[in-house]
Amino acid sequence: MKSYDVVVIGAGPGGYVAAIRASQNGLKTAIVDKQWLGGVCLNVGCIPSKSLLKNADLAYTLRNRAKEFGISFDNLELDYGEAVKRSRGVSQRLTKGVGFLMKKNNIDVFMGKATLNTKDQISVSMEDGTEEQLQASHIIIATGAYSFTPPAWGLDGEKVLSYTEAILQEKLPASAVIIGAGAIGAEFSTIWNSYGTEVHLVEMLPNVLPLEDPEVSKELEKAFNKAGINVLTGHKVESVEKTEAGVKVTVSSDESQTVIEAEQALVAIGFRPNTSGLGLEEVGVKLDQKGNVIVDESMATNVPGIWAVGDVTGKLLLAHVASTQAILCADAIAGKETHPINYKMVPSATYCHPQVASFGMTEEEAKDAGFDVKVGKFPFRPNGKALGLAEVEGFAKIIVDAKYGEILGASLIGPEVSELLPELTLAQKMELTAEEIAHNIHAHPTLSEVLMEASEAIIGSPIHM
Ligand code: FAD
Repeated sequence: MKSYDVVVIGAGPGGYVAAIRASQNGLKTAIVDKQWLGGVCLNVGCIPSKSLLKNADLAYTLRNRAKEFGISFDNLELDYGEAVKRSRGVSQRLTKGVGFLMKKNNIDVFMGKATLNTKDQISVSMEDGTEEQLQASHIIIATGAYSFTPPAWGLDGEKVLSYTEAILQEKLPASAVIIGAGAIGAEFSTIWNSYGTEVHLVEMLPNVLPLEDPEVSKELEKAFNKAGINVLTGHKVESVEKTEAGVKVTVSSDESQTVIEAEQALVAIGFRPNTSGLGLEEVGVKLDQKGNVIVDESMATNVPGIWAVGDVTGKLLLAHVASTQAILCADAIAGKETHPINYKMVPSATYCHPQVASFGMTEEEAKDAGFDVKVGKFPFRPNGKALGLAEVEGFAKIIVDAKYGEILGASLIGPEVSELLPELTLAQKMELTAEEIAHNIHAHPTLSEVLMEASEAIIGSPIHM
């Protein structure tokens, strides 16, 4: 039996970051993963999808906007297989980097499936068929989540796909039904549409990216429709059937029922935590109704010495949330001072085209919460950098409390808006006001000038409108 201060189960952005910080804190640490270092994010999630989106951007430009940029060719050939190969290379580079970081930080790596025997002992069924027994003063559960598909839809990885097959397949479908217009559905809509796949995007709720400001969602829907994506919001999937040629998806709205035939269906309707078969309940760890591990502010479960971070806690299924929880958890184990995460102010981004990014409350949520709200909004259209990039769709919207000028949130859609978030989240954290953002000199020409102008709209008038 090998003994450690900390054993982390799961090597995604929650687990591997927790392991590094635990080791940095002087704790003898091991990490276990049954499949890969880097978890979903680095292997089949955040990273390869962003790599494919870069290729998609180029493909879209060459297919649809070449003339505008003065580019002509006789026979455009787009090799999607090469785009996937490039994305695998990007992924492998980062996962190798995680391996290197494990070595550098003296973290023992066990590649195998972990199960808790007791509240401080873990069995690992190693890839080579052997069994390892680990003893740990602290165990951090960081096993992530899996994509949920109703069993009747017959997920087979060929005609009915989850994100994993979608991200790894080197051949594009000629047509596809994407079920669910959250971040994953929106990003794959952009990728496949850019390469010429006929995309039908089905969403049960009234808007695409239903958690975003409805004004942002409408702007995205407009852009998707313009790009040729068939957006069906307010449509519920009644059935998914396999046919000789692919799939037949029956969807219904309040008014009608439609049958869509396509080569493939991608299901992106939500996630469930990886908690079953881990032995958690057997050692007394409390789970919520959905199976998420219940944790307190320092990521401790109800069983002393067992902690959980990342998607398995079901808080916000984002890589940066997993990593932030991980650092907090490893510091709490080491007895360091920690600060609870304000989940309401966590930034998030969707890298579809145009990009969407937000944090805090939407205008509607702020009003519902009883705030006297002031909103500053500025479009990208008059912004010199956006014009130069030929990416003028979208706007920035900043929401403040009229009484004290406190920043309550922001909703952005447009070019590279994910990169504009940190200025606003830092301002919010440091309790700056819109006036202070407006007085901050922004380099010209930059996309960030849109934030300055939206802030000016709150305190008076923006210059360029
Ligand atoms: P995971 O990354 O899921 O890692 C869990 C690890 O635990 C896995 O490696 C698994 O093999 C291992 N494991 C599970 N059970 C066991 C066991 N019993 N024994 C040993 N090991 C086990 N988030 C963002 O913030 N930005 C993005 O742009 C973004 N894009 C995404 C795109 C896609 C297509 C997808 C699917 C997700 C995306 N996400 C994004 C979400 C992000 O990937 C997750 O929030 C993140 O990976 C969660 O990290 P985690 O460490 O909690 O879990």
